[in-house]
Amino acid sequence: MKNICILGSTGSIGVSALDVIVGNPSGFKILALSAGKNLKLLKNQVKRFRPKVVSVINQNHAERLIEMLGRPLKTKVLWGDDGYREIATLKDVDMVLSAIVGAAGLVPTVEAINAGKDIALANKETMVMAGSLVVELAKTRGVKILPVDSEHSAIFQCLEGHDKKDVRKIILTASGGPFLRLPETKLTEVTLADALKHPNWKMGKKITIDSASMMNKGLEVIEAKWFFNIDVDKVEVLIHPQSIVHSMVEYKDGSVIAQLGVPDMKGPIACALSYPERLADVIPHLDLCDVGKLEFFSPDFKKFANLRLAYLAIRKGGTTPAVLNAANEVAVEAFIKGKISFIDMPEIVKGVIHSHQPTEPQTIGDVLDADRWGRSKATEIVERISVS
Ligand code: MG
Repeated sequence: MKNICILGSTGSIGVSALDVIVGNPSGFKILALSAGKNLKLLKNQVKRFRPKVVSVINQNHAERLIEMLGRPLKTKVLWGDDGYREIATLKDVDMVLSAIVGAAGLVPTVEAINAGKDIALANKETMVMAGSLVVELAKTRGVKILPVDSEHSAIFQCLEGHDKKDVRKIILTASGGPFLRLPETKLTEVTLADALKHPNWKMGKKITIDSASMMNKGLEVIEAKWFFNIDVDKVEVLIHPQSIVHSMVEYKDGSVIAQLGVPDMKGPIACALSYPERLADVIPHLDLCDVGKLEFFSPDFKKFANLRLAYLAIRKGGTTPAVLNAANEVAVEAFIKGKISFIDMPEIVKGVIHSHQPTEPQTIGDVLDADRWGRSKATEIVERISVS
């Protein structure tokens, strides 16, 4: 029996993880949950899973949740940064599923690693922003970090039982998103609704927009570098619209090992939660006759500048990936609010990373400083663009 804490239980990954756990009640116990603002769903989760502790974004939400839950209340309700910290480091928790979206997921994840908890990592930003520090910290604390991102889960599975020194390259597949076949000139006209129509995966808003702009894949390239301790020149992106091959590893003898499955996040979530065991009947059977064909193309780095910028950021190194991520979060937020157009997003990221002088972060505080710097720089550009 593994005791689990889920950071971000009302998001798309959190909900799928709870589904996996419902299907395997003897394997897991939910000790703690955290959510942002979706109190209605959190209330239902508390009633169903009876965690010891939950945490929400602020005191006001905590009071409302307590009222919604009614009495007698056996679940302790916490809030804010202290609340997230407390549940991430809770004594009896064996594994923390880190599924908060964005930079906000970094600090609680680092706290959990520091407290010696194994991590199922869905929050990309932990590795993107602070990869070098996080990898080092996990090593010192003897913590396992298991990938939940489908591509990294695939690579992790393809590497099992092999020697890392035999790896020639890692091939990250990408669906290409909703604009794969749209001519580059038409990208100027795409709307928020268009960007939110992902062809294969059901995900939250932020990551769906990142998939449409290919920033998601860019962040995954950086994440792969840290997860698998590999030079970024050995990480390749391959467009694969069917999202059946979740990623591949090519070995020095020319042999390629791929991991396949229907595109359902429950697969990688279950793989991380139950590692090294496998759970039964997690995702539907993959019928390759039904799929029919699997296509592969090279990515268009000119049309999707974000992908190029992500490679640039990791090559510049130091604080640059944290700044890239911060600028992108600001840009996506501005796009969601209708302040800027789709093609403005990579322009903002580009402007910010080109004006950044990277340093090598020594602490998470340094990373957070870079994050703040990137946000304020990006906000300046958004304001300039949105008034013109
Ligand atoms: Mg992914």
